[in-house]
Amino acid sequence: MSATHERHDTARERPSVELDAVIVGAGLAGLYMLHRLRELGLSVRVFEAGTGVGGTWYWNRYPGARCDVESMLYSYSWSDEVQQEWRWTSRYATQPEILRYVNDVADRFDLRRDIRFEMRVTAASFDEDTSCWQIRTDRGDRLSARFCVMATGCISHPQRPAFEGLDGFEGEWYHTGRWPKEDVDFTGKRVGVVGTGSTGIQLIPVVAKQAAHLTVFQRTPNFAIPAWDGPLAASVEREFKENYSRYRRRARETSTCWPQDFSERSALEDSPQQQERELEARWQEGGFGFIFQYSDILTDPEANKVAADFVCNKIRQRVNDPEIAELLCPYDHPLGTKRLCVDSDYYETYNRDNVTLVSIRETPIEAPTPTGLRTSEAEYDLDVIVFAIGFDSMTGALFNIDIRGRDGVQLTKKWADGPRTYLGIGTAGFPNLFTITGPGSPSVLSNMIVSIEQHVDWLTDCITHLLDAELDCIEPERDAEDAWVDHVNEIADDTLFPQADSWYAGANIAGKPRVFTPYVGGCRTYRDRCDEVAANGYESFTLR
Ligand code: NAP
Repeated sequence: MSATHERHDTARERPSVELDAVIVGAGLAGLYMLHRLRELGLSVRVFEAGTGVGGTWYWNRYPGARCDVESMLYSYSWSDEVQQEWRWTSRYATQPEILRYVNDVADRFDLRRDIRFEMRVTAASFDEDTSCWQIRTDRGDRLSARFCVMATGCISHPQRPAFEGLDGFEGEWYHTGRWPKEDVDFTGKRVGVVGTGSTGIQLIPVVAKQAAHLTVFQRTPNFAIPAWDGPLAASVEREFKENYSRYRRRARETSTCWPQDFSERSALEDSPQQQERELEARWQEGGFGFIFQYSDILTDPEANKVAADFVCNKIRQRVNDPEIAELLCPYDHPLGTKRLCVDSDYYETYNRDNVTLVSIRETPIEAPTPTGLRTSEAEYDLDVIVFAIGFDSMTGALFNIDIRGRDGVQLTKKWADGPRTYLGIGTAGFPNLFTITGPGSPSVLSNMIVSIEQHVDWLTDCITHLLDAELDCIEPERDAEDAWVDHVNEIADDTLFPQADSWYAGANIAGKPRVFTPYVGGCRTYRDRCDEVAANGYESFTLR
């Protein structure tokens, strides 16, 4: 393996290309996978729908977009040169800065030469005769590859606003997950934002500062913890750079892929005064780590209520109007069972004269009108509507490709009642098809970049093993897959996660089966399991 062969098929216009591997997506996962497979000497091609690299960070250019993991930790660990030389400017990196970083990595490692931009893979089917994947793109290309790696992202397929009449809206409208490259100017405009998840919470304070008036349409309030963002202190940067290997190792050893882990103490061991002190200290640190303060925030309703009440009291302190504060206090899900948001002045934004909060829980949006939005109660005149309404997560990007395994079985059919994978890496009946941070792995509950590196490294070892042993194919055994899916569901049921109507469970998409897909057993346990499987000669996989 290794050479790229171009073969002309006289019956068709386009040459068919034979490769060792095709990777779909040039985000953080696809780029690292390309780098590793190239190191093995394989011929690899990446297909990317965008005009550039970056994935999530390419598409989500909305104002205020930034990562909610600290920049020193949300970066590749596989190149010491990069981690030492790259200089982050703030505690939480902004989208433009992360995109510059990803582009810098692509340039340093000359990754672009194997990436085809503005090309979408439309179909991938397994050919049993050749044991290869036959791949098609929207440009009419046809390729054959031994390995097909889906680096399509977990939160990458935007949920289209399903409001009839949107075409008749005479103003501009945007989805945050498909934000234009050009600046959108809100100056002097009446803007409506629909959605108050992590994205809306980042966007709203920025738009409010520019727009003449901002109306926020909130269906469900979420919990947000302050980021306390600011310039990255030189001392913090130095500390990380001098001790990076320790920080990275620690991140791989915890259950969350952060260097810090859940405390071992229950919230219920502390007196109310102590709880207040502990949570206040964690609040002052800011960010996602708030959830790590006690061991049982995600498992014990009483412990969860302690943390939730603390955050709601903070909301009441931050918002001047008590009625608006109450509307912003979450009531329908335990804290952390939807992704905890990290904010910069989100709640304070509702103290501005030019911002109105409209609760649409009881009075839903009925339809766009030519001049704005109509709820069941009132009409709102708007020049711009921004939909921050989220994604068809975990499976949306995969289902957007016509993937067919053995006997022509479609992935959409096999997963009709929810995704079925072994370890979130592969699925029975689809040999040599790999999903990086796929459903059934901890991925979205972790520091994503650490989970990406773990999967890419595991896959690289796996492919090396196949090549060394002169084997063609690997695929999970169906029994192992069934047991893994049951295990993922069972351990989720021991937590508070299933109580929320979250995208983790597909509950945000009408008609999607409600199945909690991320593995909640912890990244460390998961990594050990993956390593054990590999050490035992890829047990529970069939190798041919
Ligand atoms: P999301 O968490 O799914 O939030 C979508 C919001 O839109 C929710 O408030 C939802 O209300 C609302 N919504 C959806 N459909 C609606 C409709 N028809 N009418 C009215 N409201 C509607 O999506 P997201 O905010 O884009 O975030 C998705 C994930 O991306 C996050 O959880 C996080 O993992 C990741 N993310 C990370 C960062 C970061 O690193 N800082 C930033 C952004 C996103 P309901 O709750 O009632 O459904």
